[in-house]
Amino acid sequence: MKLDVNALRYLSKDDFRVLTAVEMGMRNHEIVPAELVERIAGLKHGGTYKVLKNLLKNKLVHHDSSKYDGFRLTYLGYDFLAIKTLVNRGVFAAVGRQIGVGKESDIFEVATEDGTVLAMKLHRLGRVSFRAVKTKRDYLLHRNSYNWLYLSRLAALKEYAFMKALGEHGFPVPTAVDCNRHCVIMSLVQGYPLVQVKQLQNPDDVFETIMGLVIRLAEHGLIHCDFNEFNIMIDDDEKVTMIDFPQMVSVSHRNAKMYFDRDVECIFKFFSRRFNLSYEEDNDECDGSESETEENGRPSFLSIQKTAGFLDKELAASGFTRKDQDEIEKLIEGGMDQKDPTSSEDEELVEEGEAPDEVNDIISVEMNALQIINQQEMTTSCNDGERLEEGLSSCDPSIGCEKETLVSGEQDGSDESDEGDADGDALLVKRLNKQRKRAIAAAHGRTRLLASRNSYKDKGGKNSHNSKIQRQALKW
Ligand code: ADP
Ligand code: MG
Repeated sequence: MKLDVNALRYLSKDDFRVLTAVEMGMRNHEIVPAELVERIAGLKHGGTYKVLKNLLKNKLVHHDSSKYDGFRLTYLGYDFLAIKTLVNRGVFAAVGRQIGVGKESDIFEVATEDGTVLAMKLHRLGRVSFRAVKTKRDYLLHRNSYNWLYLSRLAALKEYAFMKALGEHGFPVPTAVDCNRHCVIMSLVQGYPLVQVKQLQNPDDVFETIMGLVIRLAEHGLIHCDFNEFNIMIDDDEKVTMIDFPQMVSVSHRNAKMYFDRDVECIFKFFSRRFNLSYEEDNDECDGSESETEENGRPSFLSIQKTAGFLDKELAASGFTRKDQDEIEKLIEGGMDQKDPTSSEDEELVEEGEAPDEVNDIISVEMNALQIINQQEMTTSCNDGERLEEGLSSCDPSIGCEKETLVSGEQDGSDESDEGDADGDALLVKRLNKQRKRAIAAAHGRTRLLASRNSYKDKGGKNSHNSKIQRQALKW
């Protein structure tokens, strides 16, 4: 997936305002009616349509007139919203080359103002998992194909929360820096995925370290679920870092033992294949404890002392709740082996030319400084727009916003089918008006939008991630 951040530099605040309006509209619409975009954006004299044309030209939105005249965000549009928010927050200032293509992500280098290079992971659920999820459409209800926004955002939040919590508990993971929408910023790992390593000085030590990690994770109540040579990085000193956490599950998951055994097996297989190591006889080598190994030398899930829910508090502090965990577990079951080979047609979501799984396809791009908006030039309305945008994003995965819908008594399940008849029109107008009122309230600086969106996500204390972001947003 190409990410030409140059375009970002030439986008005006009106462009971002309209792009944000499309994003807002996507809470309740797969394709956002042009009229709704116009109302939310609130630009004068039909300005929205001119801007939409520009966004379309830059492939930030997609136009669909099959049922009515409407727009939806593309991945690129979503990327730009996240990148701009993070740049405005001061998290980084430039985007560099692509350093990884995961099965459901693109990873880029980004640089901070002082030149520190970090890694930016843009989640692309829909590439693989969404295919698996397709069979669970009933669960997704009215969300249909636009749930890629929701899924990617939820996956990013989960990854960020786990990375942060695991780091705090001394696990060798990248340092979690920030997260917005489907984007996670973390420290850059100086190393290579284990899959690229042909030789190790001390394969036994590395193996033991890695096995020790699987066991320690389980003791902390967790299973990685995609623990393999692609998600373990190793540096020149053979120091191990684990990455990629969106599919982690709790040891209380009904398939926990199977996932644990699968992770263990992946490592055993890889080490015996690549480094010709055989562990069959070394029953008590893995973690030094005989009671935790089975006869074939594999650690035994059942005999590990596990503390389920151990990290729940830390995870919730990042805005990732038990409910989010349950929800994402329902959607993405058990990581990489869940690919559904039968569904090759994930049309719009798998864009042409996208690289397949796990190819570390290095695309060289110059570091592009991102002077997106001159902060001094920002007018009051621009600041409000920013705040409005923060309200939308702030690590809050609930793009679907079902709760708001329920609270306001809207019937979103009404779908496109009744669009066109009088009742449908009346309902649409009512909905448009409500959307508009909310947008106006937010743009006028009333924080109801922020508060209401965060109140159910982040009931938490004053130190929770969302409240920090709110405070920061209000300072601008
Ligand atoms: P996916 O979930 O799509 O599999 P990963 O998180 O595994 O994505 O990342 C894909 C690849 O990107 C990794 O194999 C690795 O090469 C690279 N990568 C990911 N995170 C980092 C990081 N923090 N530092 C350096 N490289 C990274
Ligand atoms: Mg991976």
